[in-house]
Amino acid sequence: MNRALFLDRDGTINIDKGHVYRIEDFEFISGIPEFIKQYNNKEYKVIVITNQAGIAKGYFTAEDVNKLHKHINEELNKIGAHIDAFYMCPHHPDYTGVCNCRKPKTGMIERAIKEFNINVSQSILYGDKPWDIECGLRCGIKSYYIDTVLSDFKNKIS
Ligand SMILES: [Mg+2]
Ligand SMILES: [Zn+2]
Repeated sequence: MNRALFLDRDGTINIDKGHVYRIEDFEFISGIPEFIKQYNNKEYKVIVITNQAGIAKGYFTAEDVNKLHKHINEELNKIGAHIDAFYMCPHHPDYTGVCNCRKPKTGMIERAIKEFNINVSQSILYGDKPWDIECGLRCGIKSYYIDTVLSDFKNKIS
């Protein structure tokens, strides 16, 4: 079985500017590429789970998001880091009806657990919003807010 680092995207990996989908609007939160690399080196699967309701609202397409995710991995690769998989929820209840994947629902994590054979008790989740934490906890995963953990991490490497 595999251990996993589950990460939210907006506000956790990149600065949340609201409906980020253009490459030129993408900006890593300081320290996160190195943080990811550390988990790559420890052989965790690094898995992003992200609500992208902008797709349901017609602001951008799933293809736009996929292009951005490819860009994120290209940038990470420059320092020898990578994300193993991105799971996104393209839904919003007001536009597409209720789904089972929009956080705090657990559909994305449940899929990842199956597809990557994840041991939840040895995995960890970081996010910036209460629904991230709730989603992780519902799946039995230790879940924390990224800001405190990342500032601690940056103190150790600087
Ligand atoms: Mg977020
Ligand atoms: Zn969904």
